[in-house]
Amino acid sequence: MPIQKNIIDQVFPETLKILSNLIKFQTVSGSSNLELIEYCEEKLNKAGATSFKTFNNSGTQANLFSTIKGKNGSSNKGIILSGHTDVVPAISKEWTSDPYIATKKNDKVYGRGTCDMKGFIACTLATAPLFASNKLNVPIHFSYTFDEETGCLGAPLVLADLKKRNINFSACIIGEPTNMKAITANKGYNEYITRFTGLSGHASNPESGVSAVEYAVRYSNKLFELRDELKKRKSKKNIFSPSYSTLQIGKITGGLGANVIADQCFLEWEVRPISKNDGDFISENIDAFANDILLPEMKKNNQKANIQKEIIGEVVGFDKEESSDAVNLVCNLTGNNTKETMSFGTEAGLFQNSGISTVICGPGSIEQAHTVDEYITYDQLKKCLKMLISLQEKMVN
Ligand SMILES: [Zn+2]
Repeated sequence: MPIQKNIIDQVFPETLKILSNLIKFQTVSGSSNLELIEYCEEKLNKAGATSFKTFNNSGTQANLFSTIKGKNGSSNKGIILSGHTDVVPAISKEWTSDPYIATKKNDKVYGRGTCDMKGFIACTLATAPLFASNKLNVPIHFSYTFDEETGCLGAPLVLADLKKRNINFSACIIGEPTNMKAITANKGYNEYITRFTGLSGHASNPESGVSAVEYAVRYSNKLFELRDELKKRKSKKNIFSPSYSTLQIGKITGGLGANVIADQCFLEWEVRPISKNDGDFISENIDAFANDILLPEMKKNNQKANIQKEIIGEVVGFDKEESSDAVNLVCNLTGNNTKETMSFGTEAGLFQNSGISTVICGPGSIEQAHTVDEYITYDQLKKCLKMLISLQEKMVN
């Protein structure tokens, strides 16, 4: 154990340095992450990894998948360390330091992404050289994706690519902030924008137009009805908090003023289903209501009236397994057998659906994620380093 502490002390300053560099790349979801990916690729390749990238359609964003091979050059049965490179915006004026400059204070590092989840990526990059030997029994893989926060847009491209390459894996650790506890399940996450197109007119003559606002409100009420149905469909397993699938409308935009019939209205809403069935239940019912009830009424006054539901993202949930190699591995490495679930969407369900045993375990607290003055503690970073160093030790023995 003292040897392990020595290694942590050696690697820790480098981890902080890498984290500072990662924070500087302003990789807000939707914007380019290419510079950050190049930085990571260079570091991993220096540690002896071979890398490949997958890109979004316009080539402005990339996923990086890097492998340090095992003994005899084997690429199979390896372990994936996975993190997303995008961060949520930091536009609030309430930040007490620059969100894109890592600020160290009281054994914490402040900055956008420190805990969600560049802290984990920094730990994996700092320990990568330790894995760089021909002694590993199985390969170690590093997977860094784009646009997780806006519907897990990057991960499916990596997974499709891995399938083509016919590589198999024994476990995947997703380093989302969990205070280094094993998370064994999370809800799905579905996000939508529904756009209503009506016909503007003078409010004194309602028959002259089609109020997009009115139809959006009726659509909203239907969503709330369905939401109450979801509550009744409570799962017997009861592993989540809250235990049922949730739905909320987060934003409504539309109309010009009290005396004008609104020709446009947008609803932004989300569902966090505990099962795929619940997600499908909402979609099928709201689509039927829009197409069979609302739309024919709207079209009476304007043939061009329309309701369009755009899927921003439909992220599958991460289901609890009776016995999971990945969960056992992480509990073994951290010495912590606490197992919890989350109501947040992550990439875990995507990896699981690709047949890879998956667990979520990473440094920092979810309470810090997406907040003003986001931070990660030195203690959490060191606990993550300890897990990765233990993993390396396990892989050479
Ligand atoms: Zn995250």
